[in-house]
Amino acid sequence: MELAKKFSVQKPSGMVRVFQAIEKMQGVLNLSIGEPDFVTEPDIIEAGAKGAKDGFTHYPPLQGFMNVREAACAYWERHHGFKASPDEVYISVGGLHIPWLAFGALLNPGDEVMLIEPYFTPYEAQIRGNGGVPVPIKTREENNFAPTIEELRAAWTPKTRAIILNYPGNPSGRVASLKQLEEIASFVEEKDMFVLSDEIYESMVFNGEHICFANIPGMKERTLLASGVSKSHCMTGWRIGYLFAPQNVINVMCVLSSFQTYGVNTLSQYAAAYAMNTQDEKVKARAKIFGERMKAVASRLNAMKGVKCPPAEGAFYLFPDISGTGLTSEEFTWQLLNEAKVAVLPGNAFGATGEGHVRIACTQSMETLMKSMDQMESFLK
Ligand code: PMP
Repeated sequence: MELAKKFSVQKPSGMVRVFQAIEKMQGVLNLSIGEPDFVTEPDIIEAGAKGAKDGFTHYPPLQGFMNVREAACAYWERHHGFKASPDEVYISVGGLHIPWLAFGALLNPGDEVMLIEPYFTPYEAQIRGNGGVPVPIKTREENNFAPTIEELRAAWTPKTRAIILNYPGNPSGRVASLKQLEEIASFVEEKDMFVLSDEIYESMVFNGEHICFANIPGMKERTLLASGVSKSHCMTGWRIGYLFAPQNVINVMCVLSSFQTYGVNTLSQYAAAYAMNTQDEKVKARAKIFGERMKAVASRLNAMKGVKCPPAEGAFYLFPDISGTGLTSEEFTWQLLNEAKVAVLPGNAFGATGEGHVRIACTQSMETLMKSMDQMESFLK
């Protein structure tokens, strides 16, 4: 069967090529996966099951159940002092579906969206798929991969509508400072743009507190604040994300959902509401474990010739600079996989700024991480 032309020209991304290779191999230590290794807590599973037994087996409301929206509001107020009403919340199919619906609601053909490198790969297709034009913004590691106002100014055109922020970031694991975010906020205000701030790693910040972009004065009304329970509550398979946004945006997202997914799995919503209301201590305890793993892995990496890894800041990713090995990101990744059976992702899969880096997900036990570091060290010798 002949595929649509848009697919026949599309090559699998650097990330997908690694995933496909691993599937055909045995005994790989896999540090390429962006999901917590912990399974969902048993009481959350019970809450989902109770939902089913109580008869919550019907179509959900398009915007999401009120109790889940209330739970998201309460969670963000409790953890980050961010205040929103449940009318300003949309429950989505994972965090991943949010940009798709939000750009669908907001972009006109040709609108440009600033995409800060290195970026979470799907954003690019999500902008294009909704008629927008991604404008990659190169950044520098010494700035924590956050853009300076000059870098933004140089990339701005009268067609620029929006910018995507993602701190703590995937793949960089880096956190922008309040000063950097305030600078971005002043630029966004000056140019009358909207912001998609993907804060799905809000619970994993190892150095100080998470900064909620929408809390910066004047930003709430122009910010779409995206998050979800996949990472914080180890619920990737339940597919629950959520968005705080102005109500007119959410209204259009509901219309789009009515012919795409018709809302979100009812039982998962039931479990997510319970999770957001009851798991604060466990979320904190897991973040501590990720922080310890990242610290241990970073220290092992820094002892390897040609590798530099700054201290872990957030999320569960390290993004070491491997350029001192003389290998490109792709060469490093594929040789490490084939010769040492350790899977990481090439930094250039996340935009050109990622060249010279690889992404290491600390989403395995300490034992597996240390074994991977042993194998990587022998490979580099
Ligand atoms: N945003 C970022 C930055 C992510 O890393 C991910 C998952 N890797 C998502 C969104 C999507 O999360 P979910 O699994 O909830 O769809």
